[in-house]
Amino acid sequence: MVDVTVRGAGVFGLAVAWECALKGASVRVVDPGGPGAGASGGLVGALAPHVPENWNEKKAFQFASLDMAQDFWAGVAATGGRDPGYLRSGRLQPVADEAALALARARADTAAGLWEGRHVWEVIAADPSWGPVSPTGLLIRDTLTARLHPRRAVAALAAALTARGGEIVAEAPDQGAVVWATGWQGLEALNAQFGKTIGAPIKGQSATLGFDARDLPQVFAGGVHVVPHADGTVAIGSTTERDFEAGDSCDGQLEELIARARAAVPALAGAPVLARWAGLRPRARSRAPMLGAWPGREGHFIANGGFKIGFGMAPMVGHTMAALLLDGDDRIPEGFRVEASL
Ligand SMILES: Cc1cc2nc3c(=O)[nH]c(=O)nc-3n(C[C@H](O)[C@H](O)[C@H](O)COP(=O)(O)OP(=O)(O)OC[C@H]3O[C@@H](n4cnc5c(N)ncnc54)[C@H](O)[C@@H]3O)c2cc1C
Repeated sequence: MVDVTVRGAGVFGLAVAWECALKGASVRVVDPGGPGAGASGGLVGALAPHVPENWNEKKAFQFASLDMAQDFWAGVAATGGRDPGYLRSGRLQPVADEAALALARARADTAAGLWEGRHVWEVIAADPSWGPVSPTGLLIRDTLTARLHPRRAVAALAAALTARGGEIVAEAPDQGAVVWATGWQGLEALNAQFGKTIGAPIKGQSATLGFDARDLPQVFAGGVHVVPHADGTVAIGSTTERDFEAGDSCDGQLEELIARARAAVPALAGAPVLARWAGLRPRARSRAPMLGAWPGREGHFIANGGFKIGFGMAPMVGHTMAALLLDGDDRIPEGFRVEASL
């Protein structure tokens, strides 16, 4: 008999299971596809904050998650002996014009307070050796943004959970509290149950290039993420597709994204494409994470809606859900409740 059954071995399910195990619960994760079979098996891994202004409970939750991520992933690596590829290496963004410069400077001030003096948002001069082309010659640099390698992070979480006595299996009956962290398939099950659209899969395509920038900051320019990883690759992400035929195929939209990345970051001009990958992000109707009790289904819970920032949110999602399941301590922001998407 286990205390908690988690359905879905993506980053949400594994983070919930891990935080429950840390609190002393016995945990079983069930996924017929195994760890990382869904959106969490990808390549990009940008852990980037919202802009530091107009603070609300969603931004505060995300800040807490990014802030605790370094310790979270260090604990995972130390327990399971596998490297999630985490590094708080920061981020560079171009400053387009005078108006953008004024906004960037205002955000530098608000970040000082909202990020509690622990992380910086500042304007710096562009460095021609690495970073985005910037019309003003200036960049925004923040030190809160981090990266991890999604596929490796999932493997590291699975190893840590197993090392702590948790199980990961393809099939098992419900025992104890049941958490449904089943990604886009879980959202479609809710659509069917409630007879309306509560969530939908949103396709994303991504790639890795061979270019060694392992300790350098990631770049966000023109809507493209350029994320250096520890293995000497740079990930490029991602398309956003509501309409698609196959969830796992790559096409010309990805080639166009790669071309945009090369134009934004000239250092990548000659870097070869090593891998291409597509997956389906789980987007709740609220566009926010969807957490909490499954309405009308006693003993069942939902952890879903990671959409574009599931890896960034995972530490707090795990922490918050474990507190709810094991202590009855409900700290879920109103906008993240399942009801927000019903
Ligand atoms: C191209 C792309 C780029 C991205 N880039 C980033 C990024 O840079 N930063 C970031 O933070 N996020 C990023 N994301 C988003 C992130 O990957 C997702 O938010 C996250 O992986 C969602 O995790 P999940 O565990 O909820 O879902 P999933 O990883 O999809 O896991 C759901 C799991 O449930 C299983 N399952 C389904 N039905 C059942 C069932 N009935 N029983 C048991 N198991 C079941 C599936 O096999 C799957 O393994 C990106 C996503 C994509 C597609």
